[in-house]
Amino acid sequence: MGINVAIIKPVGNGCNLQCKYCYVDGKPSKIEHMTIQMGKRIVDELFAQEDVNEIEFLWHGGEPLLQPISFYSEIFKYQNKKSNETGKKYENSIQTNLTLLNDDWIEFFIKNNIIISTSLDGPRELHNINRCFPNHEGAFDRVQKGVALAQERGCKVNALCVVSKSNVGFPEAICEEFDNLNINHVGFLPCYKTENDRTVIPSLSPGEYGLFLTKVFDLYLQGKTNVKIREMDQFLGGTIGFQQDICSFTGHCDHFICIDYAGDVFSCDTTPQNDIHRFGNLQTSSLLALTKTAKYSCFVKSIQDEQLLCKSCPYFEYCHNGCSNMRVNGRYYYCEDRKILFSYFEKVIKDVLSEEGKNDSSNRCFTV
Ligand code: SF4
Ligand code: SF4
Repeated sequence: MGINVAIIKPVGNGCNLQCKYCYVDGKPSKIEHMTIQMGKRIVDELFAQEDVNEIEFLWHGGEPLLQPISFYSEIFKYQNKKSNETGKKYENSIQTNLTLLNDDWIEFFIKNNIIISTSLDGPRELHNINRCFPNHEGAFDRVQKGVALAQERGCKVNALCVVSKSNVGFPEAICEEFDNLNINHVGFLPCYKTENDRTVIPSLSPGEYGLFLTKVFDLYLQGKTNVKIREMDQFLGGTIGFQQDICSFTGHCDHFICIDYAGDVFSCDTTPQNDIHRFGNLQTSSLLALTKTAKYSCFVKSIQDEQLLCKSCPYFEYCHNGCSNMRVNGRYYYCEDRKILFSYFEKVIKDVLSEEGKNDSSNRCFTV
């Protein structure tokens, strides 16, 4: 199987915010824009893969709304043309801080079926600790306005919540805020950073993240929140044979690729974007050629080798050693957290089953 998710950074790491915990090592001094020509080249390369029939384009940043609508408009028309020619399906989603959202963007998103995800770390006082404009003003109010604007026009908004030392102690307040904003699908991403040539983890101590997720799950079970954690979907999906679809659970980083504004290709946006980790550039190589290089093969092999470390773990099939960029000495930094959470899911499932067994009269007729 080839690459079916492309994380595209149409303005590189350029952003209108200056979040204190931003994972990018050294913010660019100016905004660099991907050309339409490069955007089309990326579309060509992804559609050209013989063994891929569905492609997800994830527009990321930095802040992708710093690229004008006219850019996306051209690229989306081109995707449509390629899809008609090849019969392959595709989808676009955008990860945006929503602070630049206006009616024109909303209209454009609706017209093009764009899936919107924003970044929100909880209520104002928690969100604004880290997520602010260069003048230090917190971004919460602008995000809230963006969410309302999108929802008024019928667009669903999902969210990523970065879990850091600042908010890990407040699962109830965070869920309450997402409920207030009518956002149910939230990915809780542990805070990380890139420094020089490596991804640095993290501000959370082992166990803190797992406990946080367990609490959110409890709130959901008790009917106190509508926020679902994706870990539960991935775990349950795995137990009943559904295909898991999030890389940090499937262990398939090799289905992903990250492409910067200039066409530089990396394995992921969590990878430091520098020469050490760059596989090459799409101006001079095809995607297929880059995935055949010794450097790329080495990357895939190292991920597979690290998974061997976990083979005896009872949760291996659901976890696969977590995100490959968040490993320390080959093991997922949040290994303990996953074990806490997965064993908790198991307990809840067993409790439900034994409760149902007790109440099921068809079971009782076989007893003396
Ligand atoms: S490095 Fe982590 S986030 Fe990136 S593709 Fe791999 S598992 Fe996913
Ligand atoms: S829970 Fe830990 S040991 Fe088990 S697969 Fe995940 S990272 Fe590996």
